[in-house]
Amino acid sequence: MSTLTLDQVIGAFEAAGMRATRPRRAMAAQIVTWGAADQEFSSEDLWHAVQEQAPWVGRATAYRTVQILQDFGFLDRVTFADGTERYHVISAGEHHHHLTCETCHRVVEVEACIAPEAFAAVAQASGFAISGHRVEIFGRCPTCQAAS
Ligand SMILES: [Zn+2]
Ligand SMILES: [Zn+2]
Ligand SMILES: [Zn+2]
Repeated sequence: MSTLTLDQVIGAFEAAGMRATRPRRAMAAQIVTWGAADQEFSSEDLWHAVQEQAPWVGRATAYRTVQILQDFGFLDRVTFADGTERYHVISAGEHHHHLTCETCHRVVEVEACIAPEAFAAVAQASGFAISGHRVEIFGRCPTCQAAS
């Protein structure tokens, strides 16, 4: 469960030079609600959710909002085996990976990570200063295995 607040989201908009307009506030409130419920969502979901309150808001605004909140470290991207993407709210500095079901798109957060020595070896061999990584693990969840 995340502790993201409306003020934090509005603060991020302002820091990004965006006015906290009514549709943006509606989007912020929706994201905070999804965060509290630990629910994943797509940019498309956000756009649809805000339509009821602000039907004039374009899809691009919803996508941009998600991008900004991801840049601020409030949202984490989940990539599924089929390439589709969703997001969920995370706490600042949180680091985890995702185990996703290829059948029902269930998401499980995984604390396991690649060993620091493995990264050190990659940095050594490549000469790169490594700044980050993504690991997505795919499979079929117990429910989907039982159903087949
Ligand atoms: Zn995550
Ligand atoms: Zn499943
Ligand atoms: Zn990791």
